[in-house]
Amino acid sequence: MVYIFIFQRGVSMADERTITVTWKVSEEQLQLFSTEEACADMLFTAKWPDGFHCARCGHPHAYKITTRRLPLFECSSCHYQESLIAGTIMEGSRTTLRKWFHALLLISYAPCGINAVQLSGAIGVTYKTAWLILHKIRYAISKADASTMLSGIVRVNSALYGRPHNPSVNRHIQEQPLLVGASINTEGEPLYVKIKRVPDEYLQGRNLRPSGNQHFIQHNVESKTGDLECITARFSPRRFHRLLSVAKKAGQWINAAYHGIGPKHLQAYLNEYCYRLNLEFQGEAIFRYLTQLSAAAAPLTYPKLLRFPIIS
Ligand SMILES: [Zn+2]
Repeated sequence: MVYIFIFQRGVSMADERTITVTWKVSEEQLQLFSTEEACADMLFTAKWPDGFHCARCGHPHAYKITTRRLPLFECSSCHYQESLIAGTIMEGSRTTLRKWFHALLLISYAPCGINAVQLSGAIGVTYKTAWLILHKIRYAISKADASTMLSGIVRVNSALYGRPHNPSVNRHIQEQPLLVGASINTEGEPLYVKIKRVPDEYLQGRNLRPSGNQHFIQHNVESKTGDLECITARFSPRRFHRLLSVAKKAGQWINAAYHGIGPKHLQAYLNEYCYRLNLEFQGEAIFRYLTQLSAAAAPLTYPKLLRFPIIS
């Protein structure tokens, strides 16, 4: 069953001020994240889907030490101890798992996206913590996207983020050329979408060099795909309007939710938009996949995040 759930901070988490966020979430999902223990079990399954195995010796059995805030697992062979959040995007965080999972739900299902100010109010953390949580989840989303290749019938079209109607032949400083690609069904409906910012080295003015297409295809399309078309001429009569519309909506969503963003973090937000769109197309499977990726993605620290924005 899917229904609209009203999450009120004043009621559910803390009581300083009430922020109401509405999103679509199943009853089953809420149950999964209702307690710290339930979240720990969920994270355990996501981290070790085939059961525990020691990071040092590979042994499949461990003792669970429950004297800390989060369970610790001690290998019954070599006695190596591993925290549940080690090696996940939550590593080093003092935020509760319940808040982390609520953030995952919010970023996945909030209809208009969620920014750090809203998340901070909704789950009761500081702005800096909320910002970091969101970026770490976007990092996991980007990793998930990077490991999913377009396949079957694939269509790719060039598009623009920012100032799309600029009549000048020169590229405007706020204009970011994009490539939007999708696996589609025989009716032309997208099944999985990716939107990628074109790196500057593949551009000549506002136009894409042929090597730009090749770069996109190499990194985003399965090598055996036989039915692949790529349109980059801006006014080609063969351009894929459905893909152009997806790119336009992505730009509008980014501008509305985050008041526009510069090129540094644009890719992370495009990935978030596509994740949410693909969640609509593919349902719960994508959310579970993100949870798994969150448990598997290498930890990302605040200084590292500032130095190395997501570029793919
Ligand atoms: Zn061991």
